[in-house]
Amino acid sequence: MGRTSKDKRDVYYRLAKENGWRARSAFKLLQLDEEFQLFQGVKRAVDLCAAPGSWSQVLSQKVRNQSSGRVVAVDLQAMAPLPGVIQIQGDITQLSTAKEIIQHFEGCPADLVVCDGAPDVTGLHDVDEYMQAQLLLAALNIATHVLKLGGCFVAKIFRGRDVTLLYSQLRVFFSSVLCAKPKSSRNSSIEAFAVCQGYDPPEGFIPDLTRPLLDHSYDFNQLDGPARFIVPFVACGDLSAYDSDRSYPLDLEDGSEYKYTPPTQPPISPPYQEACRLKKNGQLAKELLPQEYAINKVDKLPQ
Ligand code: SAM
Repeated sequence: MGRTSKDKRDVYYRLAKENGWRARSAFKLLQLDEEFQLFQGVKRAVDLCAAPGSWSQVLSQKVRNQSSGRVVAVDLQAMAPLPGVIQIQGDITQLSTAKEIIQHFEGCPADLVVCDGAPDVTGLHDVDEYMQAQLLLAALNIATHVLKLGGCFVAKIFRGRDVTLLYSQLRVFFSSVLCAKPKSSRNSSIEAFAVCQGYDPPEGFIPDLTRPLLDHSYDFNQLDGPARFIVPFVACGDLSAYDSDRSYPLDLEDGSEYKYTPPTQPPISPPYQEACRLKKNGQLAKELLPQEYAINKVDKLPQ
């Protein structure tokens, strides 16, 4: 019952399983490609924050038949193997991970760098936006080391209050920067994707992994003239595509009967695994606060 209701509520979740994608996010990248032809001529790509791996699945299918095709996928979490994808488990904000990624592209730069990174959302919007911006800047920093001139960078972005500052920073490195919202990304979510095409760093720019790109004393309200950059917003995905905020009946439009499909690749070692094990063994008792001892009339602290 529960499983079926998720299929009904989230059509892209259901289609992802039925099409063998590890996550519904695959449709976001496919719809971005439909609009911007991101994969045209792409042989080498980096997938940052890649787990469980649906973007890597899409990318590896695109580069599979190319000689010298290469996809490098990176995530904090372990990811089940994918044919033809080099995997690195690490934090993209760490120097050691960045160095490991870069060494795969020495002498043969990448055509495309994508980053679908999302921090664990706290619900405190300013904190979430800040963390997201840090991930994006870490990804951009890596991109400046591995991208070929003219290459493309696509990264998840939270359209928060200070997003203009990020756009201005991206615009320094790319001839075209747009903000795109694929149909498979819910309207209720502040996520969108910065699509940056035509990698063209300023003359004399030397990539430097130790240089943070976000200067904390930077006030975006002081940006003016060419530094203040307003990006076009593009809603992408065919108008006839499914609406990610709607529920759909389970029987298909062609009249065929609905059949439940299990997830393509269940998580291999999710962070909640230990908590599930403890809960199953009844070992996940909540620690009582001092005031709760009184309320619960517990006169002795548990041993
Ligand atoms: N694009 C993926 C796909 O299609 O399967 C989904 C990515 S998921 C929305 C976001 C991922 O970002 C998570 O797997 C998370 O572990 C990863 N992530 C968050 N912070 C990270 C960091 N600092 N370094 C590497 N990965 C990170």
